[in-house]
Amino acid sequence: MYNWPHGHDVAARRRACAGFPVAARGQTGRGAIDVPAGVDAALSIPVAVVNGARPGPVLAIVAGSHGTEYASIIAVERLIQQLDPKTISGTVILVPLVNIPSFEQKVAHVNPVDGKSMNRFYPGKADGTQTDRASLAMTREVVEKSDHLIDLHGGDLDESLRPYSYWTKTGNDRQDGISREMLLAFGLDTIIIAADRPKDPAASRYLENTASTRGKASFAAEAGHAGTVDTDDVNALVNGCLGVMRDLKMMETGPAPIESPVWIERVATIASDANGIFYPLVKRGTYVQKGERVGYVTDYLGSTILEARSPENGVVLFIRAVPSMTKGETIANIGVPATSK
Ligand SMILES: [Zn+2]
Repeated sequence: MYNWPHGHDVAARRRACAGFPVAARGQTGRGAIDVPAGVDAALSIPVAVVNGARPGPVLAIVAGSHGTEYASIIAVERLIQQLDPKTISGTVILVPLVNIPSFEQKVAHVNPVDGKSMNRFYPGKADGTQTDRASLAMTREVVEKSDHLIDLHGGDLDESLRPYSYWTKTGNDRQDGISREMLLAFGLDTIIIAADRPKDPAASRYLENTASTRGKASFAAEAGHAGTVDTDDVNALVNGCLGVMRDLKMMETGPAPIESPVWIERVATIASDANGIFYPLVKRGTYVQKGERVGYVTDYLGSTILEARSPENGVVLFIRAVPSMTKGETIANIGVPATSK
């Protein structure tokens, strides 16, 4: 299927992989997005290109901007194994792990090389730190080459998250209609309406928003929690991507769309104003009432110093998964369902 040398010569495999993959129709190519060294080290981001036997749209599927959101990374790994170019119309660009330093060092949220989130510095720049340069390379090699993009995330090591996706409203009705249909095809039952994303393509901030502000109907989705690789979470993301490919007519069959998801019109964040030990009282996905306790924080000798209450009626999108709590950190995000849709 691919052109790596046989045997176990890892260095030879790496050399064979360098550069963005070239794949003939009906073939899968494997290679890398090369981020040159600058004020800090170079980075090589692995990428597979599944070039379908017939023409069609180019769909990018990305995971691992946060390298410890494992379920989403494993979902893209599975898609690389599973997608058969002979049965596909169009091209799928698959990037399973953007933030390799985070994955290798098991550091949540940021790239440990420069301390930056790898989903906050798009469209990137050539003279910045590794995250800035990697973001620029992703913009050029992945976003600009694709018609649509799906950015996969999951609850990070410290987040107990229930699956959901985001619908970014750009204000372009036609594009927003396509992305809405893609989200229904993806099939997660809870969709956050994000109307506050930057509209300037030169300051797009997020990967998905880099595609959306360039006129490409796209979305982000999350499934996974607290460092686990749950079969249900991985399946939800894999089947979601296959559903979108069916919707975009890149495959003849695929999972059915969801008909009536819960639309979340705003997200209320409960943050801690103290350092201490966090004890949750509700699980991810629980519906809570305004004023209901979702958890509490004690000092290190067991005295309660903070009661966390929900500011709204809504669903627990995620709640902190670990006892470590510091001032300013998120205790929970509560999604408020849209009253009319
Ligand atoms: Zn993430």
